Amino acid sequence: MIAPLLILLLATPPGTVRIATPRGETSVPVRFEQGAAIAAPLLAGPLGLVVVIEGARATVVLEGVGFVFAIGSPYARVGSRFCQLVDESYVVRDTLFLPLVWLTDCVPRVFGSRFRWDPVASLLTETGDPTAVVRDTPRVAGVTTTAPPVPALPPARPAPVVPATVRAAPNPLTGLRQRHLVVIDPGHGGRDPGNPGRFFPQGITEKDVNLLIARLLRAELVRRGIAASLTRTGDTLIALQDRAGYCRHDCDLFVSIHVNAMPAGRRTPNATGVETYFLSDAKTEDQRRVMQMENNAIRFETPDAAAMEGDLATILKDLQQNEYLRESARLAQLVQQRVAGVHPGEDRGVQQAGFYVLNSARRPAILVETGFSTNKRDGAFLTSALGQRKIANAIADGIVSYLMDLERKLAVGGER
Ligand SMILES: [Zn+2]
Repeated sequence: MIAPLLILLLATPPGTVRIATPRGETSVPVRFEQGAAIAAPLLAGPLGLVVVIEGARATVVLEGVGFVFAIGSPYARVGSRFCQLVDESYVVRDTLFLPLVWLTDCVPRVFGSRFRWDPVASLLTETGDPTAVVRDTPRVAGVTTTAPPVPALPPARPAPVVPATVRAAPNPLTGLRQRHLVVIDPGHGGRDPGNPGRFFPQGITEKDVNLLIARLLRAELVRRGIAASLTRTGDTLIALQDRAGYCRHDCDLFVSIHVNAMPAGRRTPNATGVETYFLSDAKTEDQRRVMQMENNAIRFETPDAAAMEGDLATILKDLQQNEYLRESARLAQLVQQRVAGVHPGEDRGVQQAGFYVLNSARRPAILVETGFSTNKRDGAFLTSALGQRKIANAIADGIVSYLMDLERKLAVGGER
């Protein structure tokens, strides 16, 4: 019986992985701490592999194809495509550690039939058919210190649909019948602290609170049987245009978590409460303020990213035809209602503005401004364990309501 043996081998990652190409063979050590991970610089040799670590981003060029890893994040980006890696990539001294699944799953998928993974032999084999490279994979020449060019995105696929006739038993906690995945984006990170957090305890800034709420939200969704992942799990900076791209294919929706701040002035301490954004053109002065504040994170990124600013008008025009605009507005409304219900501050309602973080979304996407760090009561609520839990649970409530609606619509559609 082969099957039980396979499961056993997969459950225990190998000590080394071999990579065989027509130009020779190499062994790569696998480490077990922080999940099974391979040490990347050791890959150099017959594969002609190049690793460039630049700030919080690592680019690994394998056979002319650039894989971009955000350190501390469980994803690899290849042009406009993403691989979910389960574990995070991390750096110890000068060595980049990549989740083993990158080699066993992501590489074979990106290269099509050119590489094949054999789990029994722990062997990645290049089949020697260099024309088998998937056509939409961009190739980069030599070492790159920035991300490879992002080609036009493929047309958005409809939301993942399980045929309505196939009815699983409803989840006892939520009533949901289908499998769902939510991507949660804790705003800012790394050298971008977000807003300084005027009424936060010393040393705490927006990025810290965003991450704490995002982690609680992930735990709450998972508890309710909904798969959830984070764009960053540690204190790292992820490019704005990369964040929403993590929500693709089997992902249902994208939620970015932030804390608001009012610039110094007469009405500064009075502004309070929660507001939820979906992507559209900013209409009011206040919406423009929040948009500028959050989009400002771009100055922590590469100079190329700043040039993107000029393209925003075009992107927005494009997105006005986005089929997910109405879905995003509905999601924003449901989340806003729930969070406003537990928040000590004002219900500032659903807002719309042009956020870079949402503009590459190909799924319903919202941005929650969970309160004002420039307001004393909001600041205390946002930095208390109870307040963070209340916000996370309320966002989860809103998401579940939205998914219930979605399942109902799909069921109705299927019965026609
Ligand atoms: Zn923010």
